[in-house]
Amino acid sequence: MTETIKTDVLIVGAGPIGLFAVFELGLLDMKAHLVDILDKIGGQCAELYPEKPIYDVPAVPYITGQGLVDELMKQIKPFGPTFHLNEMIESIERIGDPLFRVTTDRGKIFEVKVVVIAAGGGSFQPKRPPIPQIEDHEGKSVFYAVRRMEDFRDKRLLIVGGGDSALDWTLNLQPIAKNLSLLHRRDAFRAAPDSVNKMKALVADAKMDLLLGQVSGLAEGSDGLEATIKRDDGSVITVSCDAMLPFFGLTMKLGPVSKWGLDLHNDELILVDTEKFETNVPGIFAVGDINWYPGKLKLILSGFHEVALMAQKAHRYVYPDKRLVFQYTTSSTSLQKKLGVA
Ligand SMILES: Cc1cc2nc3c(=O)[nH]c(=O)nc-3n(C[C@H](O)[C@H](O)[C@H](O)COP(=O)(O)OP(=O)(O)OC[C@H]3O[C@@H](n4cnc5c(N)ncnc54)[C@H](O)[C@@H]3O)c2cc1C
Repeated sequence: MTETIKTDVLIVGAGPIGLFAVFELGLLDMKAHLVDILDKIGGQCAELYPEKPIYDVPAVPYITGQGLVDELMKQIKPFGPTFHLNEMIESIERIGDPLFRVTTDRGKIFEVKVVVIAAGGGSFQPKRPPIPQIEDHEGKSVFYAVRRMEDFRDKRLLIVGGGDSALDWTLNLQPIAKNLSLLHRRDAFRAAPDSVNKMKALVADAKMDLLLGQVSGLAEGSDGLEATIKRDDGSVITVSCDAMLPFFGLTMKLGPVSKWGLDLHNDELILVDTEKFETNVPGIFAVGDINWYPGKLKLILSGFHEVALMAQKAHRYVYPDKRLVFQYTTSSTSLQKKLGVA
């Protein structure tokens, strides 16, 4: 049986706002676990624009998306948050006053006094390539993510795409695959030049194939998945493989958040108040891009403000008998001790 993880706060989403929530909760002695669907920490900053500069984080004139995530990770280190990556929060059930049972798609169960939803634009979903009936093969021989590399050991793989994910997985899976082909519609790649060079070196050494063209049809045949490929010279070939992995980028969908019984704005954002950033369910908060209130701006700095106020109210649920005294980090020895600097 799965053991239930008991902690003070569960944060749904490890984007910049979920990360800073750990800091504000930590200053007030609340422990947090974070769950994220992605295989990495940092939400949109790490997934969508790791190398792009951000110019409007207060007192930081310039920082890249990944740089901001790295700095937040340093800032929250004293509070030792636990991360559960590659997992999606599926359900939140109220079992006490307040006490919640939260379940992931992998069957992990949390029992927490407070839930902080920092789920951004919702869940990142892979973009489906325009191949007729591709959905019939999804989860059987077509996969949009590599959850466990071992699943692809000694398999014949067809990777489709020309961006960083396609190239990174080509390089990571090539050593363990039985054989691997990369298919891209043209001989120009959006991925990092270093990855492209490494891939071309493998092709030159006959360790993998590079095909130029597009998949026009898929069928389950006697020899596995058969992909019909229209090559850029007009010819048509069929490639048999055990698994096809298309990497066409990600879009964001609200996902399971919409089924948690929370009041929504325009069916897509969680309605909160501007005093505590709490939802209509006491003990469940929503911060960052996922929430809505009059005047909301989807900016990182707005989310940072929201988590500070959220933590004040969360403290009342976690420590109902303790009085909260407002303190500055500059002058409070007690806060500095928690930060490991006094
Ligand atoms: C190209 C680009 C440039 C930008 N530039 C700026 C800028 O210059 N300045 C600025 O202030 N803002 C900028 N933004 C916006 C900024 O990135 C967002 O405001 C910020 O990322 C919001 O943080 P968040 O933590 O609320 O959400 P996100 O960063 O979206 O993180 C949410 C996380 O929650 C996870 N998640 C969702 N649902 C679930 C679930 N059910 N279970 C588990 N995990 C879940 C997601 O996988 C994701 O990792 C930019 C955005 C983009 C796309």
